[in-house]
Amino acid sequence: MNAEPGQNPATTGSARRLDVIVVGAGFGGLYAIHKYREMGLAVQGFEAGGDVGGVWYWNRYPGARVDLPSICYSYAFSREVEQEWTWSEYFAAQPELLAYFNFVADRLSLRKHFKFNTRVTRAAWDEERQLWVVTTDGGETFEAPYCVMATGPLSVPKDPEIPGLDRFKGELYRAARWPHHPVSYAGKRVGVLGTGSTGIQIVQEVGPKAGELFVLQRTPSFTMPMRNRKLEPDYVAEVKRNYAGLRQAALNSPNGGLRPASTRAFFSVTPEERQKLMEDGWRNGGLAMLGTFSDLLANAEANEHVAEFVRGKIDEVVKDPVTAEKLKPRGYPIFARRPCLDSSYYETYNLPNVHLVDCQTDPILEITEKGVRTASGEIELDMLILATGYDGLTGALLAFDVVGRNGQTVNQKWKDGARSYLGLMLEGFPNLFMTTGPNGPAALANIVRISEHDVDWFAALMTHMKEHGLKAVEPTKQAEDAWMALVASLADRTLLSKAKTWYVGANVKDKPLGLTLFTGGFPKYREHCAAAATNGYRDFSFEKAHAAVAA
Ligand code: NAP
Repeated sequence: MNAEPGQNPATTGSARRLDVIVVGAGFGGLYAIHKYREMGLAVQGFEAGGDVGGVWYWNRYPGARVDLPSICYSYAFSREVEQEWTWSEYFAAQPELLAYFNFVADRLSLRKHFKFNTRVTRAAWDEERQLWVVTTDGGETFEAPYCVMATGPLSVPKDPEIPGLDRFKGELYRAARWPHHPVSYAGKRVGVLGTGSTGIQIVQEVGPKAGELFVLQRTPSFTMPMRNRKLEPDYVAEVKRNYAGLRQAALNSPNGGLRPASTRAFFSVTPEERQKLMEDGWRNGGLAMLGTFSDLLANAEANEHVAEFVRGKIDEVVKDPVTAEKLKPRGYPIFARRPCLDSSYYETYNLPNVHLVDCQTDPILEITEKGVRTASGEIELDMLILATGYDGLTGALLAFDVVGRNGQTVNQKWKDGARSYLGLMLEGFPNLFMTTGPNGPAALANIVRISEHDVDWFAALMTHMKEHGLKAVEPTKQAEDAWMALVASLADRTLLSKAKTWYVGANVKDKPLGLTLFTGGFPKYREHCAAAATNGYRDFSFEKAHAAVAA
């Protein structure tokens, strides 16, 4: 080991030497720093943002709120954190989530291990010395045998490909880079571009406050009632007593949450019973509907029944039939895009100051100095809010040079699509670890459970290597090929590829198309990862110091 945990790392030449470098201070990064420090390793984290929180540091947009229950969307690794932190709402809002990150960082003294406002500009594997050399935008260099990319699946925001964005003279805000100062909408003409999870949350929040709100919608999303609520002290006490049970249930749930796997196929029950179950799902709120039947992502006909049920709910809420019709998603399966949860989205369109602009029939031509020009004319705006999504899953690792063996970059390796073994490691990139990486279950399961799982899995591998005097590890090409074949064959069985989404890379120009997510469910994923370790890591090739040997 190179330095005592918490102490300044040793210095080799002008580079600082560590055991583990961690990129990112979100859920994965914070836990990685904690875990590896506990193992006695010298750790250093880097974070482009000004503080901890990852996506919740950046996404301060109005109405930002998690769509998984807070009691699930929180760390399980620390009993102290679990017991001392109290969630106030079933689905926590961004300020509370950020407060949670700060609480964890302070409680476990993690902040001192991070350099904030520091972007990693290059990470390169040094073949001879068997370590990663990492440089930052501050011009500093750090070295460590292991590098953990805890960069998150949604950390690179994407601007729309619409000419004229830089011409707009009004207030321009990006949801994923929201300013830290208060923003006022009162009396202003506000445009929101994008109607995914982010846009929906913004619309319902800003609609009642703005002078006029213009929602620029290209593809309508399916959204269901969140049914958020304050958590009562008795409920919180019960959760705290039963956290161990809840965590175990989450590990066995397909999405790492509270919802157990359903075994009821849609057509296995009568039409009356189906209707009642859908009504129950709607009334219960959250993602209850998705868990009501087992085959909603496999059976297109069953899926369409649920989609039609939700379209019917739009009619029940939205008073203007023309607006209601435009809000109805068609042409892709429900749940194939990330299902959204809302508290008053459809109701917002009943406000006289809220206008839906259907960009399918009235496409946006350009952004002007004064606003947005669509085919039917110019909409003058004081403020334009971009909620246009992310270069998901791969964007963060493609945003800088990550250089593996023989000078190969991740960009080159992924030119035809993201490849990995288990979503955790890349052939050709020794000792490079990814939390929530492509071809794992990220986006389809609770990111906190996945992050903890991944960090623990890397810890076991590093321990194995230390015990066996091994210096470098990477998956074999055969193992990576086999994993990619499994991911592809599972993807073929779901409807998830049938919508143009960030899940399949369809939202980024020239990105190779394909569902780079493991769709077999979180429990199965954990089984695969566990087996890769308990079989003696036979899917990996290891090196001792400077000499290639089989494990
Ligand atoms: P998104 O789902 O990718 O939605 C982006 C929106 O921008 C889409 O409506 C898209 O329309 C639109 N858009 C992009 N370029 C456009 C253009 N040139 N012209 C017109 N419209 C354009 O992104 P997001 O809403 O930020 O959500 C991303 C993910 O973040 C979600 O899937 C979810 O996983 C996560 N998220 C979670 C929460 C939560 O926990 N509650 C909240 C927010 C986000 P098209 O579909 O037509 O391309």
